[in-house]
Amino acid sequence: MTAQIINGFELAKEKRAQLAKEVEQLKREGIVPSLAVILVGDHPASQSYVKAKQKACEEIGVRSVLLTFPSDISESFLLEQIARLNEDGSVHGILVQLPLPPQINELHVIEAIAPEKDVDGFHPLNIGRMMTGQQTFLPCTPYGILYMVQSLQVDIAGKHVVVVGRSNIVGKPVGQLFLREHATVTYCHSRTNDLEAITRQADILIVAVGKPKLITSSYVKKGAIVIDVGVNRLEDGKLCGDVDFDDVKQIASYITPVPKGVGPMTITMLLHNTVQAAREQHK
Ligand code: NDP
Repeated sequence: MTAQIINGFELAKEKRAQLAKEVEQLKREGIVPSLAVILVGDHPASQSYVKAKQKACEEIGVRSVLLTFPSDISESFLLEQIARLNEDGSVHGILVQLPLPPQINELHVIEAIAPEKDVDGFHPLNIGRMMTGQQTFLPCTPYGILYMVQSLQVDIAGKHVVVVGRSNIVGKPVGQLFLREHATVTYCHSRTNDLEAITRQADILIVAVGKPKLITSSYVKKGAIVIDVGVNRLEDGKLCGDVDFDDVKQIASYITPVPKGVGPMTITMLLHNTVQAAREQHK
């Protein structure tokens, strides 16, 4: 068996084309969807993520405003900037690029963003709404993963989804989203005993760890759907996922590549949430 590749890049392109039409419609109604992005410090990866997000906004007609601050700003200064954006009616979404410098508590920052402008979907109120099945902003990477799996037209109900990784931004919420779709969900992490025995039970295996090629074919059940969230830079400068793509594609039914897999969908769902925020704030 050779797995079919889930082309996140193409899926993202289609979804962005739909969003561009929605933005046009909003503009006809006098609403210009707008995202404020805050970047603290000069972390190269963060700079490139922010650039990609701004470019994506521009492509579909969303206004993006970048606020950059030096790495030595205080937490209270950053909270003041967020409070100002919360009050600014021309800004619909606020995103603070993580990680932040050590003097700033990320949780304080996330909680300072008005929940109705929390287009990353990280605010505890929005996470609580997601877990209780209410309408809210879904966190972008988990939402993108669900969208990709749904695009395969497979019935998620009753499937065994194994998530490797339990971070607040990927692992935990992605498991919750699949639970909402009636999957049976198992979480694994660094303290899991016999990881391989558990991942081999997965009908859908989602890996968000940050360790290059951790998952080889011996960890995967024949015919499983494999979603690789990991983004790791190798010594030669190339990007690679947490899944050994060439090995696992021999056994999986579907697999996401790195790059051009989950990454483009994450940014697309950020655009989706920003458009949703603009629409809801003008109801
Ligand atoms: P974190 O570092 O926050 O979490 C990593 C998780 O992996 C933790 O839960 C950790 O367990 C677990 N883990 C670590 N080692 C092992 C192991 N040997 N076996 C099983 N589990 C292990 O990472 P993130 O969730 O933020 O990101 C994960 C990866 O996804 C990274 O490569 C990141 O760059 C990428 N990413 C990609 C995105 C995209 O859009 N493509 C978006 C966000 C992230 P424990 O909790 O016990 O420490």
